[in-house]
Amino acid sequence: MRGKLVVGNWKMNGGLAANAALLSAIAAGWNAPTGRELAVCVPYPYLAQAQAALSETRVAWGAQDVSEHEAGAYTGEVSARMLVEFGCRYAIVGHSERRQYFGDTDAIVAAKARAALATGITPIACVGETLAEREAGRTLEVVKRQIDAILEVLDGAQVACAVAYEPVWAIGTGKVASPADAEEVHGAIRRWLTDKSATLAERTRILYGGSVKADNAAGLLAEPNIDGALVGGASLDAGAFGAIAKAAESLTKS
Ligand code: PEP
Repeated sequence: MRGKLVVGNWKMNGGLAANAALLSAIAAGWNAPTGRELAVCVPYPYLAQAQAALSETRVAWGAQDVSEHEAGAYTGEVSARMLVEFGCRYAIVGHSERRQYFGDTDAIVAAKARAALATGITPIACVGETLAEREAGRTLEVVKRQIDAILEVLDGAQVACAVAYEPVWAIGTGKVASPADAEEVHGAIRRWLTDKSATLAERTRILYGGSVKADNAAGLLAEPNIDGALVGGASLDAGAFGAIAKAAESLTKS
């Protein structure tokens, strides 16, 4: 049984004092039993702070990216092994902002997912179409291409990968996909995973991301193939993030 997973993506936000307050408020509001997971993906410099603040709690943490390389002359990069040293359980790969502003291609995203998996970190591989692609009726074609690249690196992986379907037009815009529209894409992703392997499809959590808020989370998370949420803006507010997490928790069957 896949428990729901809610992950906050802080993006390039934060500061030591504000983080301390946010992390302790999130942890104080979350005491769910094992199987209901809550995590925050923080900027690299704050990983040590997240580790110190959360290691005795039920909240996990992770990074927003990871290098495809193991080590060496790659100035500015951070390896998966380094993330392991800071206790990361997750690393987001292929966020649309990385694809758009930093040139992350499907091949690079797949290589980053492979690097994370090799160290036991669960990659959260983001996929999703732009508004132009949706309006051209190309949503499933685009998402399938992105998923296919990731499927290639999953052979033999010991830890599960997670996928986040994040329509680009819904990220940070306040325009959320309807539960039915999101479920259509999630269902297609589940079928593609099943074509590869039934076990893979069963263990892979497919999160929805894009303007998830406290008032729309329950509707999205009630869909059968929506296994959780990747939350940007609302994850910076402990109350809103906690409410989304509670919606997920109440929908997870024991
Ligand atoms: C994100 O950054 O992954 C995201 C979904 O952002 P927001 O929730 O702000 O749309």
